[in-house]
Amino acid sequence: MCTTEELPISQLNKLYTMNVTFEKRNRVSRQKRLEQSRRLNQCPLCRDVQYKNLWYAPDSRLAQLIDVHHDKISTRLCPACDMQNRGVYEGVLDIKHIPEREYDHVVSIILHEAMRDYGDNPQHRLLDFYDHEEGYMVTATSAAMIYRIGQKIKSEFKSCEMQSQYQHEPYPLQMTRIAFAPNESF
Ligand SMILES: [Zn+2]
Repeated sequence: MCTTEELPISQLNKLYTMNVTFEKRNRVSRQKRLEQSRRLNQCPLCRDVQYKNLWYAPDSRLAQLIDVHHDKISTRLCPACDMQNRGVYEGVLDIKHIPEREYDHVVSIILHEAMRDYGDNPQHRLLDFYDHEEGYMVTATSAAMIYRIGQKIKSEFKSCEMQSQYQHEPYPLQMTRIAFAPNESF
């Protein structure tokens, strides 16, 4: 193999041009990577990722494509975990007089609708589900989720009554009440 000194001028020029082109290409791709570098937030509790004001689940495509060497990732508690920590919620569903034999059906509707909503937006979550004297109470991070669950129960059990109210002040809250007729038979 010949050394650089032995190469004819035309060959050297060619090599030089190739080298310059290569360097240029490298600079362009570095620049492109810098332009594509994203600013992201990640919740330390649930690992949801925020990008451009939207939150994505940890197993979402966006989260999986995070480049830890390149993207700028800050830690930030997500709104859903923040609500859970503070014990607040944006939606309450109060269900009264569920006939015992329909209890499992009602619960499965709640869980199914909640999972569906969570699949669309990981910030929409059920927070609590508990018995009270006459029925069951469900709280969630999302007003829309509570309303949708209420609508679904109402559509499955036509004879139950549903009332729904949304307040903006002093804090946003969706309050949905469903009442099965006492001793109703289906
Ligand atoms: Zn979180």
